Amino acid sequence: MPGFENWWLIERTRQRVKYFWRAPLGKIIVIGGAALGIRQYLKDYTPKWYKNTFGNYRHIFTELPPLLSDVPTRDDQLKTLKSEQEYDILVIGGGATGSGIALDATTRGYKVALVERDDFGSGTSSRSTKLIHGGVRYLERAALHLDKQALALVYDALRERKYFMRVAPHLTNPLAIMTPCYKFWEVPYYWAGLKAYDLLAGSSSLQSSYFVSKSKSLKEFPILEKEGLKGTVVYYDGQMDDARVNVSLALTAAGYGATVVNHCSVQSLIKDKEFARGAVVRDEFTGELFEVHSKVVINATGAFTDEIRAKDQEDPEKMIEPSSGVHIILPSFFSPNNHGMIVPKTKDGRVVFMLPWKGLTLAGTTESPTAITQYPQPYEKDVEFILESLQPFLRVPVRRTDVLAAWSGIRPLAREINMNKTLQQRSTAELSRDHVIHISGSKMISIAGGKWTTYRKMAEDAVETAIKWNLEDIGKPKRACQTKFLPLIGGDYPDAFFYISVAQSFDRMRTKEKIKVGSDGKPFKTTEAFFAPLDQEIALHLWHSYGTRAPQVAEIAQSRFGNRLHESYPYLEAEVVYGATKEMACTAIDILARRTRLAFLDHEAALEAAPRVIELMSEIHHWNDERKQLEMKRVHKFLNTMRAVPE
Ligand SMILES: Cc1cc2nc3c(=O)[nH]c(=O)nc-3n(C[C@H](O)[C@H](O)[C@H](O)COP(=O)(O)OP(=O)(O)OC[C@H]3O[C@@H](n4cnc5c(N)ncnc54)[C@H](O)[C@@H]3O)c2cc1C
Repeated sequence: MPGFENWWLIERTRQRVKYFWRAPLGKIIVIGGAALGIRQYLKDYTPKWYKNTFGNYRHIFTELPPLLSDVPTRDDQLKTLKSEQEYDILVIGGGATGSGIALDATTRGYKVALVERDDFGSGTSSRSTKLIHGGVRYLERAALHLDKQALALVYDALRERKYFMRVAPHLTNPLAIMTPCYKFWEVPYYWAGLKAYDLLAGSSSLQSSYFVSKSKSLKEFPILEKEGLKGTVVYYDGQMDDARVNVSLALTAAGYGATVVNHCSVQSLIKDKEFARGAVVRDEFTGELFEVHSKVVINATGAFTDEIRAKDQEDPEKMIEPSSGVHIILPSFFSPNNHGMIVPKTKDGRVVFMLPWKGLTLAGTTESPTAITQYPQPYEKDVEFILESLQPFLRVPVRRTDVLAAWSGIRPLAREINMNKTLQQRSTAELSRDHVIHISGSKMISIAGGKWTTYRKMAEDAVETAIKWNLEDIGKPKRACQTKFLPLIGGDYPDAFFYISVAQSFDRMRTKEKIKVGSDGKPFKTTEAFFAPLDQEIALHLWHSYGTRAPQVAEIAQSRFGNRLHESYPYLEAEVVYGATKEMACTAIDILARRTRLAFLDHEAALEAAPRVIELMSEIHHWNDERKQLEMKRVHKFLNTMRAVPE
């Protein structure tokens, strides 16, 4: 009978389900599984009624006010910072961690101030590999050493990856990464490992990993060394524009009411009896010193954590072990078809990778002990090391002349240290996975370590710690933690096709210099303005940088500033105007390095664009000639750290 076997199979499965359900254990498994599933779902997609009923602060839940459409300027924020009597929380450091803390605390209803010595993200947070990841290497460690903590770390980071990509859809994207296998055993090893990674991600998975045969791998990634290649395993992780996420975090915090000021550094701490109650802050442009008072101080200064701790107590035990990582930028043909490549273990046990990023290729990295400096410098030997490590996996030469930029970042690896004795008695160790939270005798909270991917969880933990240790001072929050679902500025519409409507709604006004011949027969120079369409490359770039705020930038480009800053990149003059007026960019470097990413992408192009950036900024900030020259000097000094020099 046709289909008989299938019928029999269905019937047998039905019978088995029936017997399973009849058994008490079966019922427990099914009902228990469903309950766990629903609980996890509610945890991940917490609707308001669940937060009200089961959340930590359900009795005081109040609606979050809307995000301001225009974030106050730095001048306004600075005025507020100087005039406010007292804040609940003062955050020192405007990297991923500090900006995340400011956003978390302000949306819970606290009065928050954040001061950043340079620009938001100017530290390690603009110098990362730009991956939003669970950490495949931790998973290997978990499996090989039966390390439960490493497994928990990957699990948590994969959840955070999901929240990260949800709150900043425009600044993030899933990325296909190939793992080439040159030994037979590597195929099942990497395949099984990456399947376990998918499994652990569960509903947070971006796309399942899969094996690709040698011939297909070479079609996708033709530059891969084919000698000995057995195939590749492709898996997915997230990717981001780190500095722009950082700036967006700070601006979103400001948009919800935090006072957030860049180019202001903490010089010393204010103490009331033995407790830290604020800081003496210096405006880096004017040199003016002023006091900011607060009930709680949170130190989120990354590699500089111990420097601030030394202002709190004499000769503190070191919490940070700095390690430097260098990246280089190569042309786009090193990441064909938008695929990345990672070699988890080279012969000498290093990880090397080449990832597509902003139309070019990001490759790295080194890991070596370093001194802590504000502008770390990559050396020739680092660049050579990366090129040499990559070469065995490529069948085209990767040459020194292919390197467009090179930059270094300091990883603030944190280690657990002893806490103040009295606090220790009252607390379980405030160690949270790979980040460390330390509370000093003055109740200053220092948070360091972790990774970009987990900035949100780090911020949540830091604010929870502040509440726990200072409840009598700052009181209960008005709301529970909001940040799993709270879109960052520009991230409130996740549909990437938004860029098409931007492209169709705007033109850009461009100017071009022309040589004409006058009635006297002499040639003369003239500038002509004309409209050009907002082509796909620019519209996509605007969407990926500004999200739903892209039309505001496009409008500026339409009115006057539609020229590109450099012919090879989609950055527009309009972005300088937008950055300086709406995103608290105060220097040419703020624009070149963190509002746009030109300095990180192409050292020479950034140098060429710098004079026009300074000209545009000087119109907005009314700079005199002296300031313009100073800016140019600073640009040269900074860009010198965006290329390798001999040691
Ligand atoms: C090479 C490299 C690659 C990495 N790749 C990844 C990756 O792919 N994915 C990932 O998840 N993580 C990655 N990380 C880790 C991640 O970048 C860091 O964990 C994260 O950026 C640290 O952020 P932070 O805010 O703690 O520190 P920072 O970003 O360094 O911020 C600290 C801020 O404090 C400010 N500051 C210092 N002193 C003062 C003062 N006196 N007053 C006011 N402000 C002050 C500084 O100017 C700085 O802006 C990488 C790290 C490195 C080094």
